[in-house]
Formats: sequence, C-alpha cells, structure tokens
Amino acid sequence: MSDLLERLRGRGWRMTSQRRVVAEVLDGDHVHLTADEVHARAAGRLPEISRATVYNTLGEMVALGEIIEVSTDGRAKRYDPNAHHAHQHLVCTSCGTIRDVHPTGDPLSDLPAAERFGFTVSAFEVTYRGLCPDCSA
Ligand SMILES: [Zn+2]
Ligand SMILES: [Zn+2]
Repeated sequence: MSDLLERLRGRGWRMTSQRRVVAEVLDGDHVHLTADEVHARAAGRLPEISRATVYNTLGEMVALGEIIEVSTDGRAKRYDPNAHHAHQHLVCTSCGTIRDVHPTGDPLSDLPAAERFGFTVSAFEVTYRGLCPDCSA
C-alpha cells in the first residue's frame, strides 16, 4: 500500500474534501495515472471538482515529494504515489500499462568511471519495455 493519505496528513497538509479525493484516487500499488484520469475518477466521487483543482493538487503533492511524475515514451505524464521506495518501471508498449519493479544489481555502481565524464552520479532510471500478458495473449 502506498498510504498516500496518511503521509499527507502526517505532513500537516490541509485536507480539504477535494484534496482528499485526489489523494484517494492515487492511493494504491502500481498506480500511474494521467492528470485526466485522476480528474475523471475524482469527478466520479466529487462531481464539482474542477480540472484546475486536480492539476494544482497534483502539482502540490509533487512539490511535497509525496508523488512522482513519470514520463514514458512521449505518452502523457503520469502520477505515481510510490514516491519513497526506489523503483523502476516496466511498460507495455501496446497498452501503456506500467508496473513498479525492483531490479537486482546496482546500475549506479555498474557505470564505468570512463563513462561518467567527471560527473558525480547520484541517480538513474531504467525503463523495461515489452508486452503485458493481456497484449501478448
Ligand atoms: Zn498491454
Ligand atoms: Zn511507479
């Protein structure tokens, strides 16, 4: 569980009904929703919630570091509540489904010194691509 609501409450974030609905929509495992998807789901629970409110709320949660933005392959940016556990993404090239994965090994230390160009390297991102079981069936 991502326990996003608990985390936001713990940060002392003022929990309006609109903010709570956005947080509830994003809570869970392997959640990677576009802003439009968040808005559609939030509006299902709170019909008066505006797109602007959803966008602003997402921006605030990103600024707090409680959700992360995920961009893959030129598709719309997605929002991911799994912000505190380092993970990589497995993406279906057909339907766009995204799973959180935890590769073994350490790509950070595997980068040879000669390939670092003097950088102090602090992070990396890996995207695995392929067909999900539904799309390959
Ligand atoms: Zn698929
Ligand atoms: Zn993720």
